[in-house]
Amino acid sequence: MKQEQLKALQPEQFDRFVHILEQGQLNHAFFFSGYFGSYEMAQFIAKSLFCTDKVGVLPCEKCRNCKLIEQEEFPDVTIIRPINQFIKTERIRELVGQFAQSGIENPRQVFIIEQADKMHVNAANSLLKVIEEPQSEIYIFFLTSDEEMMLPTIRSRTQIFQFKKQEALISLQLEKLGLVKKQAKLLAQYSQSQSEAEKLASQASFWTLVEESERLLSWLLTKKKESYLQVAKLASLADDKEKQDQVLRILEVLCGQEILQARVREILENLLESRKMWQANVSFQNSLEYLILKEI
Ligand SMILES: [Zn+2]
Repeated sequence: MKQEQLKALQPEQFDRFVHILEQGQLNHAFFFSGYFGSYEMAQFIAKSLFCTDKVGVLPCEKCRNCKLIEQEEFPDVTIIRPINQFIKTERIRELVGQFAQSGIENPRQVFIIEQADKMHVNAANSLLKVIEEPQSEIYIFFLTSDEEMMLPTIRSRTQIFQFKKQEALISLQLEKLGLVKKQAKLLAQYSQSQSEAEKLASQASFWTLVEESERLLSWLLTKKKESYLQVAKLASLADDKEKQDQVLRILEVLCGQEILQARVREILENLLESRKMWQANVSFQNSLEYLILKEI
């Protein structure tokens, strides 16, 4: 992401960090809550720390270091993400061990941990302990979707910044990418991160699911018997768990847009039941059919 985009997405946080960098008062442990620009901000700060051709504190985005950081291939900026929903404590211990052994060749290190709530508290503590070693210059960014997801022991030892979703702005950006207003609004409401919004914007299969979900909802509202056919169609399109989750979320967003209608509120309530059934391993088709049983 370009600096201008990041600045547009999170203007206040951008200015705050530029100021912090200018004052040379960067803390060693940060906690970023919300995924709208938080990863990009951590990356921006890392670039500022390693760029060889800075203008003031602003990284050039062109030098070798900046490019390697952008591509996630710079050796002193380590990005940790969960694998199968879990960050292994072993992996963190390994990283900490490596650091202690390296004889501190390059004492400046940055760790960016995405979905940090998927990490065991022991792992987080061993990372935080490294910061306290006098010769180290380590910066850690813990990222989560929500402040509440993070363990209090970690929250209390980090500086917290919020990266909330700015729906109107994301919607505008999506329009610039070529979406019509209605699509842009829906995707802005749907997305849980900036990168998800950008990825889905151009994904034809996603928009097919949106279209077919809209049809199901309108048929449910008009109590059409054909709703059964539409559920079957959606079930054949959404042939894996990820797409099935997408359909449920799309339907939730669509209902949310019409929440003032009593009938829609009813459907939304039933939809939450459908999701529970699906999560309890009832087939996707049967879970959606629950909506029709309740409505028609
Ligand atoms: Zn640079």
